[in-house]
Amino acid sequence: MNSIYGVIGDPIGHSLSPVMHNEQFQQLEIAGAYHPFHVKTERLEDAINGIKALQIKGVNVTIPHKVHVMKYLDEIDPLAKAIGAVNTIVNEQNKLKGYNTDGPGYVRALTEFAQVDIKSKSILIIGAGGAARAIYYSLVSHGVKRIDICNRTIHNANKIIEGCPFEVESSSFVLEEASGRSDQYDIIIQTTSIGMYPDTSECAIELRSVKSGAIVSDIIYNPFQTQLLKQANLLGAKTQNGLDMFLFQGALAFEKWTGIFPNIEQMRNTVTKHLGG
Ligand code: NAP
Repeated sequence: MNSIYGVIGDPIGHSLSPVMHNEQFQQLEIAGAYHPFHVKTERLEDAINGIKALQIKGVNVTIPHKVHVMKYLDEIDPLAKAIGAVNTIVNEQNKLKGYNTDGPGYVRALTEFAQVDIKSKSILIIGAGGAARAIYYSLVSHGVKRIDICNRTIHNANKIIEGCPFEVESSSFVLEEASGRSDQYDIIIQTTSIGMYPDTSECAIELRSVKSGAIVSDIIYNPFQTQLLKQANLLGAKTQNGLDMFLFQGALAFEKWTGIFPNIEQMRNTVTKHLGG
């Protein structure tokens, strides 16, 4: 009998997770099936209880449930607790444990891309929403010592910095100041939704100069190359889009459920094909 896995969210029809995970179950000859479940906020508690009742082995959680789902779980991993959001649930003998693989997935993707130790690098995060928070806490818990945040709403950037339980040197500033300061950083990570399809001509900051050898990373993957990444390419930076983060957060969830780290390149092919090449 197949073990059942899935993703809950609202909306959920656009999710690429089912095709990505089901392909890996097939490739690795694991008897598993991964379904999208459309769950409205008012039915979230019922849906979580249903995981136990139906003996579903593992679930991903996406917008808008990543924060609210925490109160229905039996246990929460300390990093997910610090981040304040869960995107992966593991059903361990009818106890539901919540993890966050978005932040660690991003850090793993960045480390593999950079091919250097990122701990000593100075990092700028653009944006201060849920994804920025997961990435910031995961970078700090990985050992990065210097991370600044720029955001439209400075209060949201300060909330991330002030709430951090780990030691790190950080300052915050508004988006307008970023152009004049972008050449101070080894790594720039764009985490706002600005530039995402269909508003692909928009850009969170104007990138006028970057440090030699800088990496510019945008967690958006639709389009594959945002305006920010185009500017960064012209300035000679190494660029990474958000597909790697998506693949690694999925791979880390898959590993928590099955004990097997899946084949990232196969996952990349599956998702890229699904996105139309
Ligand atoms: P969120 O919590 O809603 O945060 C949105 C962020 O964008 C905030 O910093 C917000 O600034 C800023 N923002 C939004 N519209 C803006 C505008 N018009 N002008 C200036 N700033 C604006 O969203 P999230 O969950 O962090 O997601 C952000 C993006 O990351 C989305 O595009 C999402 O698809 C992507 N993402 C990708 C992955 C992946 O696997 N690659 C994973 C998660 C998320 P304020 O604080 O001022 O409101």
